[in-house]
Amino acid sequence: RPRALSGIQPTAGSFHLGNYLGAIRQYVALQETHDAFYTVVDLHAITVPQDPAELRANSRLAAAQLLASGLDPDRCTLFIQSHVPEHAQLGWVMNCLTGFGEASRMTQFKDKSARHGADRATVGLFTYPILQVADILLYQANHVPVGEDQRQHIELTRDLADRFNGRFGETFTVPEAYIVKETGKIYDLQDPTIKMSKSASTPKGIVSLLDEPKVSAKKIKSAVTDLETEIRYDEEKKPGVSNLLTIYSTLTGTAIPELERRYEGKGYGALKTELSEVLLEWVTPFRERTQEYLADPATLDGILAKGAEKARAVAAETLAAAYDKVGFLPAV
Ligand code: ATP
Ligand code: MG
Repeated sequence: RPRALSGIQPTAGSFHLGNYLGAIRQYVALQETHDAFYTVVDLHAITVPQDPAELRANSRLAAAQLLASGLDPDRCTLFIQSHVPEHAQLGWVMNCLTGFGEASRMTQFKDKSARHGADRATVGLFTYPILQVADILLYQANHVPVGEDQRQHIELTRDLADRFNGRFGETFTVPEAYIVKETGKIYDLQDPTIKMSKSASTPKGIVSLLDEPKVSAKKIKSAVTDLETEIRYDEEKKPGVSNLLTIYSTLTGTAIPELERRYEGKGYGALKTELSEVLLEWVTPFRERTQEYLADPATLDGILAKGAEKARAVAAETLAAAYDKVGFLPAV
């Protein structure tokens, strides 16, 4: 079986529709075909300030949402990143292989540091893509299911795997990004030219999966569209409507041309109302399952402990090989 690895941040509490459609749906699917590892990346979360109690609660909440989405601890390995110290350890080695200029070209850092103010951006935020390289390479992942925004970071991962292998000998699998074209970028409802984002979207622009469906319906109804009336997929001329069609199509498994036919002659209001109902149907059981996992923290922590143990077995082996190749003296 090929390996898959992906991570999601425990920030902001609730996941959003972009996380689910762009990434988590693929996590669930790849359990069937891959030896799959999924991690709640708390080390990445602290690249921006976090309240400790909130971070702890959000890490459990993230795990509960992943399970509620359909991850099955018997078919994949689900763990908390900080439970597997090898991530930080290999991360350091990777830091030492990365050029400063190379890291400076990461567009996400430029965007995020601009948002936080260049002075307040941490060195951790700057090097987080390199920690992510370690996250992936530790598991010898073949495929990395992510959204479009992560493409550049997967390229960096490939470059560093090649560089390490070239310099020290074959050690790491060179991974490929696994990005679903249709849902790789779900857009902000208020600005359908930028991605829906935990940290950058305004409350009205983001559909949080744990929100009351009424709240989400309101946001969908006030989603920015265009001055026409025709319901047609056209990313360039009609980004708002196209985004709604993508969401509708993916949640229901209905092809977009079929939706265009169904909504011929109907207005945006009808599309938005019915999309709100579609969303309600999906989030209601999701929210219930999330609450069930949260209500039983002992079971949840047990799943995470078992996941960390399975992850560590793989990560420790890869780290030992990498340390040896680099020339570190064995600890005996
Ligand atoms: P932040 O804005 O703080 O980086 P985020 O919304 O990007 O948060 P992450 O935890 O960084 O959330 O991302 C988790 C996964 O969701 C990643 O694979 C990412 O590519 C994917 N993802 C995030 N936003 C979207 C989106 N709008 N459309 C599709 N995929 C997305
Ligand atoms: Mg992100």
